[in-house]
Amino acid sequence: MTSEIKITKVTQSRVSEVNLENITMGTNFTDHMFICDYENGEWNNARIEPLVLIPTHPAAMALHYGQAIFEGMKATLGKDGTPLLFRPEENAKRMNFSADRMGMPSFPEDLFVEALKQFTALEKNWIPKSTGSALYLRPFMYADEAFIGMRAATSFKFIVMASPAGPFFSRKIKLFAEKKYVRAVNGGTGEAKAAGNYAAAIRPTEYAKAKGFDQVLWLDAQDFEYIQEVGTMNIFFKIDGKFITPSLTGSILSGITRMSVIDLLRSKGFEVTERPITISEIIEASKNGTLEEAFGTGTAVGIAMVEEIGNNDLSIKFPAENPVSVMVNDTLNAIKVQDIKDEFGWIVEAK
Ligand code: PMP
Repeated sequence: MTSEIKITKVTQSRVSEVNLENITMGTNFTDHMFICDYENGEWNNARIEPLVLIPTHPAAMALHYGQAIFEGMKATLGKDGTPLLFRPEENAKRMNFSADRMGMPSFPEDLFVEALKQFTALEKNWIPKSTGSALYLRPFMYADEAFIGMRAATSFKFIVMASPAGPFFSRKIKLFAEKKYVRAVNGGTGEAKAAGNYAAAIRPTEYAKAKGFDQVLWLDAQDFEYIQEVGTMNIFFKIDGKFITPSLTGSILSGITRMSVIDLLRSKGFEVTERPITISEIIEASKNGTLEEAFGTGTAVGIAMVEEIGNNDLSIKFPAENPVSVMVNDTLNAIKVQDIKDEFGWIVEAK
């Protein structure tokens, strides 16, 4: 295992060709990528190179059997212009949890964090400066062995690439309580960040959008009663002054924003309980006037406030005001650019 990262820089950066303050996430990519190869049972050749196309054998196992996992994180700029990462060691841990579930090799967590730091420091000029914008970082791993047959691959690539994301003006979202399709089942792959989970969610999300909703509210696979997640976010409800969020029972992705929001809310004196939550109790809380706020949490958007949960038989409307959701959103954003003190120790400098 080589822990030294060899760096080959581009001769000319492309950063001046893009307007970082007005850019859609996922459409432009930075100059470089971090890449590391797994062969003969070990990771080798950790390097940062110019981003180029990667020749892929048509039998690459990721294309056939789906051994592909990924992570999502964001880099921001601190007060003095230092690039900052948010809890990268948690992404390293979750990546290895996903790798284990999908029969893939684990990646050394210290090298994951070091790679992210060096890569982000090198791509510093690509981090947008305006409030709410960031450089989205995409670590991922896939099976590149050419083989037709059902077994774990023996060669993999781990890559980190990045895409600048302009300010995200989130509006309130309407959730379609999905009673036909499911995202995950206990014992399945929903608690891993496996590429195939996202493929399975595409069609139901299109159907929800066609019905005038923004995202799918995923319910449990057995009873279609227990609330799981929303789109690619975890979900929180505020009922009668207290917060609840679904417990991680085996089919929910453990969001890093989720764990941070739990800590943040508790530090502000709120009670937060992780437990199974039924759609019936949300309906009941709405009827008796105790349903106060709801929001989704995730790296891409931060906090997404919920306006309505509905489907053909149901319409739950949320109050127009959601002061605690706004506070959580503003506090997280402020911590990420060092506008307020990071009392939790979440921020890691990339230098
Ligand atoms: N659930 C799913 C299914 C997701 O894809 C994501 C995004 N990674 C999340 C929840 C939120 O996780 P995080 O806060 O770590 O971005």
